[in-house]
Amino acid sequence: MAPIHGGNLRYGTDYMNFHIMTLFPEMIDQGLSTSILGRARDNGLILFEAINIRDYSADLKHHKVDDYTYGGGAGMLMQAQPIYDCFKAIEAGINEKNSGSNADEIDVPGKRLRVIYVTPQGAVFNQEMAADFAKEEDLVFLCGHYEGVDERVLDEIVTDYVSIGDYVLTGGELPAMVMIDAISRLVPGVLNNDESAMTESFGNGLLEYPQYSRPEEWMGRKVPAILLSGDHKKVDEWRLEQSIERTKERRPDLYEKWLLENPPKPEKKKRRRKNTEGNL
Ligand code: SAM
Repeated sequence: MAPIHGGNLRYGTDYMNFHIMTLFPEMIDQGLSTSILGRARDNGLILFEAINIRDYSADLKHHKVDDYTYGGGAGMLMQAQPIYDCFKAIEAGINEKNSGSNADEIDVPGKRLRVIYVTPQGAVFNQEMAADFAKEEDLVFLCGHYEGVDERVLDEIVTDYVSIGDYVLTGGELPAMVMIDAISRLVPGVLNNDESAMTESFGNGLLEYPQYSRPEEWMGRKVPAILLSGDHKKVDEWRLEQSIERTKERRPDLYEKWLLENPPKPEKKKRRRKNTEGNL
């Protein structure tokens, strides 16, 4: 299966390249081709390359990529060889690309290509991790299927084990797309309004405040008057208050974290006035 490329494809530090190793490349193509990500791809801001692991199977007749697990147990396991060869092909492509226009970037000592295995056994993905991954120019994702992946190839190539939550899905394509969506939004130019990534939930450690659009009244519910006042300072204060309240109510864990980082300012002690004789 041919890799999926966007139009105006260009590499460089202003662009982000996602290389997704999968048994179902069409899922990735369908999932990432519409709306904001589709536009970002068409504008050359991000590249998605969904590579079919099956194309790298040493079994040229049946293109087998899975087998039974040693020691017994239900289900099949993805084998090491096709994944490793697929990864080496991606790595070679990246090295070749970097030996061109960004030659000064490749030899950064200790810099290692980040390879994310999406797995329920990983650290749970969050906005901070998205921001960290967004600093990379190339990111490789490995999507598991069936019972998972032979541990030896994971030991060999994976740098990050990341989950999207404490539940088990049938495959890694959806988790990879969830992560790619969140990371892509942080690539400069992908969102029309860069500010929105900052003010949105988690941007400042809080959930976003409630928002309203036209009409001013709907089903008897009115838009809070402060939002119609035109007083930007008061609107900002109201929004922060709402964000804090909402976070406290819905995500006490986040609220506690935010509170530690933003402790309430101590109230200024009122100075007692001296009387005319100089006594307190
Ligand atoms: N046997 C594995 C275990 O117990 O950890 C689960 C395998 S799962 C059925 C198949 C694949 O789906 C995994 O290899 C992984 O790539 C993906 N997957 C499933 N749940 C996931 C989650 N919560 N987050 C990220 N990836 C997940």
